[in-house]
Amino acid sequence: MLTHEFTLAVLCGGESTRLGTDKGLYRHAGDESLVARAIRLLSKSANEVLIVCHDEAQRRRYKSELLDAEGSCRPRAFKVITDQGCEVGSLPRSALTGVATALVHSRYERVIVVGVDQLGVRLRQLEQLLNQAMAMPQKMVICFGDQTGDPLPFPSIWSVSALPALLARLSQNACSVRSAIRESAHHLIEQPSQRTYNDPLSVNSNTLQDMNNYFGQPLIDPRGRRLKYLRFSLTEACNMACTYCLPDGFPEWYRHKATLTLEQITTLLTGFRKLGFSKVRFTGGEPSVHRDCLQAIEIADSLGFECIAMTTNGLLLGDLRPWIKAGLTNLNVSLDSLDPIEFQKITKSSQLTKVLALIDQAVALGVSTKINTVLMRSINGSTKSINNLIDWAAERPLTLRFIELMDTGLNQSFATQERVLGTEIESLLINRGFTRQFKKSDIDGSDGPAVNYSHQSRPGLVGLINPLSGNFCSSCNRLRITARGHLKLCLFGNHDSPLDLSSASAVALNVRQLIGTKPERHYLDVGNFGNVATFRTIGG
Ligand code: SAM
Repeated sequence: MLTHEFTLAVLCGGESTRLGTDKGLYRHAGDESLVARAIRLLSKSANEVLIVCHDEAQRRRYKSELLDAEGSCRPRAFKVITDQGCEVGSLPRSALTGVATALVHSRYERVIVVGVDQLGVRLRQLEQLLNQAMAMPQKMVICFGDQTGDPLPFPSIWSVSALPALLARLSQNACSVRSAIRESAHHLIEQPSQRTYNDPLSVNSNTLQDMNNYFGQPLIDPRGRRLKYLRFSLTEACNMACTYCLPDGFPEWYRHKATLTLEQITTLLTGFRKLGFSKVRFTGGEPSVHRDCLQAIEIADSLGFECIAMTTNGLLLGDLRPWIKAGLTNLNVSLDSLDPIEFQKITKSSQLTKVLALIDQAVALGVSTKINTVLMRSINGSTKSINNLIDWAAERPLTLRFIELMDTGLNQSFATQERVLGTEIESLLINRGFTRQFKKSDIDGSDGPAVNYSHQSRPGLVGLINPLSGNFCSSCNRLRITARGHLKLCLFGNHDSPLDLSSASAVALNVRQLIGTKPERHYLDVGNFGNVATFRTIGG
């Protein structure tokens, strides 16, 4: 988590004749502009954000773009600035001029500078830069080194005290950022070990072809739904034996039939990136029992997935830092009770404290964290148990989601007997002073089907996932892959289809061929729960 004060500067002033539009305002397939995307992905902990343009006309265009942008991508304070009309004004148009402009305007001593077209840059690289700068306060600039030991100009972190030297260089028309870095007190951070696929810091995006290569060709079903969220079950194997999912535990002899190889995982991830998927959630079974789970995350990251999430019972993750370094951005931890006896009864595990420690670690490290809780009336469904969970969660910056126990092929009568309805929890929340939150994604379902409740004096949120009444099928944006490499078009659908895993292009083509049969909606309301025998095959 970034805890030091700094300014984020996004350079947008470069000219791009090949794209046919101002690069920062480019929208791939009608999505958000690159500048809005950069702010959404990178500004989370910045104290201020500077959008650096070249001239006044460009400044006006960016300002109006950002004022129109989604609230979620608006930082607390952002300013669109231009390198004309300030003390940098008469200097040449160049990236180094942009850096100098950012240093002139920054309210903070440290400025992280990134290009709007650096599509592979993520928050954790900025964190590396900032931590290094705090450890080496005497350095003017810190950046990553390439494989030959040469500085990669951006992203980089600059000290405002580098400004006089930059202005002197610019006044002599010396515009190379690399030279400016080399000739100042600098430090190069070694890049993480060779990534298997793309080097995320040097994804080059200047042409429409580059944009297509990076973002993929969007997948839209015949009902106009844009699919971009993949829920990916790596294995059916699990190290818990939850009453409602896998009560007798996982039969080990069966594991090889229901676990994907790293090669298959890579082919599938690459295929879905070709289809414009930007979010992936690894699930299972228990994804972390897959021996290549960490590597799968690293591959997803190097392929450019923006949001890389995992749903886990939390027992095997241990130190979260390597997972974050690999690219993990979001964590959902399943936790059905805070009472050790109830926890053991549900999961057959005595390791409640380990799960709780993992959750606290995730929160401390700034990972976006959600807790999944399934209630069963006769085990963890008492008002006392529910209130304990709400009290515990409300004190933490996380979201606790109560998921209604769903019927599956193996648990049907059990689910009907034991289910605690979301409406019961809703009244409890309202009585306790929680209020329903309304946000855009409640209407379009883009944030999933949870309805969230907040309390004015507490940081945590409580969400209700009610699959029966909360029907967001018309805006469904997800597809699922089972641990056998089959495509499931709807969690509650009656079919899943084996995919051609011979290549990423074959996967992409195969999914395009099948997308026309994505059901219009689920039919839970008429008692059709589809062909899922238990969630361990699909991960929910
Ligand atoms: N092993 C991982 C875990 O424990 O989170 C991932 C797989 S687990 C199947 C994914 C989620 O599905 C868990 O949060 C679990 O509680 C939920 N789940 C399993 N069976 C369910 C059911 N019948 N109804 C509702 N949620 C269920």
